[in-house]
Amino acid sequence: MSEKSAAALLKEKLCMQRKSALLSADEKTVNDAFVFCEGYKKFLDDAKTEREANEVSIALAKENGFVPYVEGETYKAGDRVYFDNHGKAVAFAVIGKETVEKGVNITAAHIDSPRLDLKPNPLYEEIDLALFKTHYYGGIKKYQWTAVPMALHGVFVKKDGSVIKVCIGENDDEPKFIVNDLLPHLAQEQYKRSVGEVIRGEELNVLVGSMPFKDDKESGLVKLNILNILYEKYGITEHDFLSAELECVPAAKACDIGFDRSMIGAYGQDDRVCAYPALRAIIDVKTPEKTAIAILADKEEIGSDGNTGLNSAFLKYVVGDLARMQGVEVSVALRNSKCLSADVNAATDPTFQDVMERNNACHINRGVCVTKYTGARGKSGTSDANAEYVAYVRNMLDGANISWQSGELGKVDAGGGGTVAMYIANLGVDVIDLGVPVLSMHAPIETTSKYDVYMCYRAMYEFCK
Ligand code: MN
Ligand code: MN
Repeated sequence: MSEKSAAALLKEKLCMQRKSALLSADEKTVNDAFVFCEGYKKFLDDAKTEREANEVSIALAKENGFVPYVEGETYKAGDRVYFDNHGKAVAFAVIGKETVEKGVNITAAHIDSPRLDLKPNPLYEEIDLALFKTHYYGGIKKYQWTAVPMALHGVFVKKDGSVIKVCIGENDDEPKFIVNDLLPHLAQEQYKRSVGEVIRGEELNVLVGSMPFKDDKESGLVKLNILNILYEKYGITEHDFLSAELECVPAAKACDIGFDRSMIGAYGQDDRVCAYPALRAIIDVKTPEKTAIAILADKEEIGSDGNTGLNSAFLKYVVGDLARMQGVEVSVALRNSKCLSADVNAATDPTFQDVMERNNACHINRGVCVTKYTGARGKSGTSDANAEYVAYVRNMLDGANISWQSGELGKVDAGGGGTVAMYIANLGVDVIDLGVPVLSMHAPIETTSKYDVYMCYRAMYEFCK
């Protein structure tokens, strides 16, 4: 048996190991990760929009004993309640043994993802083709959204309040929709545009039909034919688009990536890759010491404003409701609370390594990523977690043998971004970002590692239990 050198021993004692966690992961854990991700892939397929994610999450929680919170009821340790926020955001809570005076443990992920929203008056006809005008939602590289099969999800709400759900393009036998791009042969002028302008916002027009309604005296017959199909299928007229929320998303289903099937490719993993682990963790929690709350929020991709986003009073009022029930001041509860802002970070891409600073970039398969701060231009627009809280999280993760890594969002001044962390921190809560590294973030298909997804779940569970 060869003795380790003094330097090797000293390295072990003093230096951080930054390498694939799969080198030392045991077979059972890797297996568990693969099994966990089968459920995750199903969630991705069933929950492509915030409304669907809200509905699917509540259904799964109800099967596991969660009931709608009722004002005036008294809940005891181990009780499970949820707060549905307009069908687009939701908070799940498992009541702890202690009152919320000592604080609550919050996980917060978002369930909205970048996409193409239909404009309020979307349908038009041009040279005998019918199209939808869109207004993109969130930060996208617009050129990536052309020539990709799309599905249409959302709702029409009629004047009487009735809601008509739409989901078309997901099944093999259903039609899809598409944004067409210019052929390379005639793209000489397009090539001169900057990358952000290769496809412009007003060029993200979705092709939806080409057959005219048979009557040669009228104009606009292709559009009319589409309206007729929609009337027969949904009972809606053109006016009903005004009170609709219709979202074009990539039609592809989640799939394994790689010969070794170690990764997942799917639309909307930012941030369902954290939302699903947060949901599963709160479901698996039994009777925690402190009340555990998992919040799945809307609107993160457009800045978290709006009544279903986390820059609203939603979380504050959820904690407030629980505090009032226990005769505790909400300010005291929030001040003593902790939060994992569960959002993705950018995994280092072998092809685009130069936007990363290698000592502080996260990697696929090194476990869940802890991000002390995000922001841009000198840490603006972020909550920079306190060292004391980072120490708490380190201790928790190491104590439970959870693979994790620290990561920054790219090089200083390479760009930047934000999460919901700062809005929760502004309530007085200790917050840090923790989530899964993602390749091709905000592209129609994003890539993650199964092992990292599972480590995210384990971190959420450890935090809440
Ligand atoms: Mn995100
Ligand atoms: Mn995002």
